[in-house]
Amino acid sequence: MHNQTTLIVGAGYAGSVMARELADAGCRVHVIDKRPHIAGNAYDELDEHGVLVHRYGPHIFHTNGERIFEYLSRFTEWRPYEHRVRGVVDGVSYPFPINRDTLNQLYGLDLDEAGAAAFFERVREPREPVATSEDVVLNAVGRDLYEKFFLNYTRKQWGLDPSQLKAGVAARIPVRTNTDDRYFTDTFQAMPLHGYTRMFEAMLDHPNITVELSVDFADVRARNHHDHIVYTGPIDAYFNYRYGHLPYRSLRFEHEHLPAADRYQDVGTVNYPNDHAYTRITEFKHLTGQQHAGTSIVREYPQDEGDPYYPVPRAENEALFKRYEELAKLEADVTFVGRLAQYRYYNMDQVVGAALAAAKNFLSREA
Ligand code: FAD
Ligand code: UDP
Repeated sequence: MHNQTTLIVGAGYAGSVMARELADAGCRVHVIDKRPHIAGNAYDELDEHGVLVHRYGPHIFHTNGERIFEYLSRFTEWRPYEHRVRGVVDGVSYPFPINRDTLNQLYGLDLDEAGAAAFFERVREPREPVATSEDVVLNAVGRDLYEKFFLNYTRKQWGLDPSQLKAGVAARIPVRTNTDDRYFTDTFQAMPLHGYTRMFEAMLDHPNITVELSVDFADVRARNHHDHIVYTGPIDAYFNYRYGHLPYRSLRFEHEHLPAADRYQDVGTVNYPNDHAYTRITEFKHLTGQQHAGTSIVREYPQDEGDPYYPVPRAENEALFKRYEELAKLEADVTFVGRLAQYRYYNMDQVVGAALAAAKNFLSREA
């Protein structure tokens, strides 16, 4: 039925899910990625010591979307995993997101659930409207907790003050009056049993899919002969920065292996809001459950230059994105999907959802 051919730029979630959906529908697809591997930023690999690590920082899968979890379950088995994070303030580590135990330990209190709610009510600085990330945090927990846990972490992560970022950034982090110390409360929380890269290999393993790595779209677009393109890279790059650069925040990852330590820290990730140039340290064995005599960790150093990892949610950036989006609408044979192409602070499951929707849309148009 579908004898058209599609070129897919990017072998991350957006590109790989699109590839699989189109291939299953009978289309022939060719996937390229400028990196030498598939899986995009979710890529994992054994480091030189045999520990499974995430090259581009810690990736924990969580979703409330049963349909999305079932979709990925076609390509992997899972290991149940609930991520836990602690935040270090003045040399002491506390449960994070802030919960009742955080308050009790930090302030030497013995609050019950109603007491914690009353505490937040007393210290919060009501804001109306809640427009920025500063508003979100002050409105919920007040200035002291804001300054201890959020202000400097956010400055480090984004190079911006929380007042310069949209509410959605800090709103990712809940505030709890109970003692739940999980980072996420989604219905489905699990890691691919054999890693993300294996899951992507299974997704792309289809007779209608070919994959070519270390190929930059910029070098092949002039001789593109496909009927349709799925583009999952930065949208401003696609249009040769016609309206200027869209800001994307980058990171430098410092990986380290500690041969003599079975465990480096008590939980998967420890955040350092106020100390160091890095934001957080993640120890992979917590995430993967791997047994190994040593352990491997990664530190994340935020920076402007480098691979684009995060869209920067601010009104002026979204306005610039909208201008690119208008150009994108005029590209009739190109589908723009994914965190970089849609300039949205998407988690993995949201990218899967966006790609499934884009594939359905494309296939219904072609039918
Ligand atoms: P990407 O994974 O970025 O894939 C795009 C691909 O396109 C890349 O491989 C790139 O090389 C390729 N490409 C770009 N331009 C070109 C070109 N010109 N030619 C050829 N190829 C090109 N999400 C969660 O759900 N849980 C987490 O715990 C989590 N942790 C994260 C931690 C970090 C440090 C980061 C940066 C992200 C995290 N995410 C997490 C988000 C997750 O990484 C993304 O939602 C998801 O990987 C985005 O998929 P994508 O396909 O849109 O983009
Ligand atoms: N944040 C913070 N302190 C923390 C953790 C997060 O201020 O200890 C803020 C910060 O602005 C961060 C945002 O909350 O960028 C979202 O955090 P999340 O852990 O979801 O970021 P990601 O894992 O996507 O980097």
